[in-house]
Amino acid sequence: MLRRSGLPLTQGLLRRSNPLGFCLCCSKAKMSTVSKARRLEGADKNIWVEFVKLAATYKTVNLGQGFPNFPPPDFVREAFVDVVSEKDTLIHQYTRAFGQPNLVTILAKFFGKLLGRELDPLDNVLVTVGAYEALFCCFQALVDDGDEVIIIEPYFDCYEPMTKMAGGTPVFIPLQPKAAGDGKLMSSGDWRLDPKELATKFTKRTKAIVLNSPNNPLGKVFSRQELELIAELCVKHNVLCFSDEVYEWLVYDGNKHVRIASLPGMWERTLTIGSAGKTFSATGWKVGWTLRPDELLKHLRTVHQNSVYHCATAAQEAVARAFQTEFERLEKPESYFVQLPKELQQKRDRLVNCLSAVGMKPVVPEGTYFLIVDLTEFKAPLPDFQDSEEPYDFRFVKWMIKNKGLAAIPVSAFYSPPQKKNFDRFIRFCFAKENTTLDAAAAILQQWSQTKPSQ
Ligand code: PMP
Ligand code: GLN
Repeated sequence: MLRRSGLPLTQGLLRRSNPLGFCLCCSKAKMSTVSKARRLEGADKNIWVEFVKLAATYKTVNLGQGFPNFPPPDFVREAFVDVVSEKDTLIHQYTRAFGQPNLVTILAKFFGKLLGRELDPLDNVLVTVGAYEALFCCFQALVDDGDEVIIIEPYFDCYEPMTKMAGGTPVFIPLQPKAAGDGKLMSSGDWRLDPKELATKFTKRTKAIVLNSPNNPLGKVFSRQELELIAELCVKHNVLCFSDEVYEWLVYDGNKHVRIASLPGMWERTLTIGSAGKTFSATGWKVGWTLRPDELLKHLRTVHQNSVYHCATAAQEAVARAFQTEFERLEKPESYFVQLPKELQQKRDRLVNCLSAVGMKPVVPEGTYFLIVDLTEFKAPLPDFQDSEEPYDFRFVKWMIKNKGLAAIPVSAFYSPPQKKNFDRFIRFCFAKENTTLDAAAAILQQWSQTKPSQ
């Protein structure tokens, strides 16, 4: 006790000043000199921690962090209730480290069918604590000091710190927006990779490319042609693909989600990542998975067994039952995976219409439950933040939360430092919300758009 926080024994004896045997102020002063591990350099700031807290501090209509504020479907909630109410109370205890047997079995069956190959539940599936842990295992298990990882911008923010924490170097390539013309709204499909530029990013040091389709925050669904180009380069340069497909079911306007692992030569080198949180509108359950060949998966298992060990047993079992229900009605109109995107497409259009009416130009997403808007032609005067180190969109969203009671996420958070300035007039809204919430946001924007310059 006396040696707590590294205090030498004599000092500890001298400064002993409370019944627990250590002096709080001394221990605090000593603690502050402890340096953090180098791998944490630059990873301490987190957009979600910052903006979730802000949105909760002020009373807001919250279109910020990505989660549905409508409930998961009844069959999913009932599955959880059934699981925890059953007589067999072992469901409350530890389970198999790499996934509850029922869950890995149905995931192998379900995705085996979609990928057109037989998957072994024990060798090809790893259940993780959300897609976050699946990603973390990929980076920790496979990226080494000096390895390069190609990241397509805009990107889900954690890819960058996860690369660096593994000792790797992120190599960024931006999607290039092309104006739609004829006064039409831009679509996320108008944001494309330059094939020549992409080819230059593959070097001898490239270990992996991170693909996120449908993409957060843009909503882009990569076309088969675009995926074939990426696949060709991966095969040519012997590069892995970390394919984050958490929004795989949220695709609109007849677009199709293509699984890159199904393309020639790609199963061997792809780590496909999914999330029950996104799939069943239950983000708090934190059940995720990765599918991959055993030679790659065994290294992820090493990270997983030495860190998290396993994901909550009851949540896994409930997800297994939900998937079983969906398997039996795959592609039928009553499937949740058919119904949810239909509902979300209507919500997307509702928000697109309201944003267009006030001049906040949305980029219409082909997938996900996010859309980004260009602020520059908003009908009301925008606040002018001078002499600020912080990107404009960060300042703007903070101001909007406090002054207008509307929460969003600044889009420059999804860009690497050199690109942030080019995209700091965009913000991201989440439309996986009750219509009443979307209407409340519309009312705020409508009223705000009528503000005169001096107000
Ligand atoms: N990838 C992307 C692209 C995401 O948007 C998120 C956020 N949910 C995750 C991974 C993490 O998913 P989970 O909540 O299952 O950990
Ligand atoms: N994926 C969600 C989003 O993009 C939430 C991420 C998080 O909370 N860390 O909003």
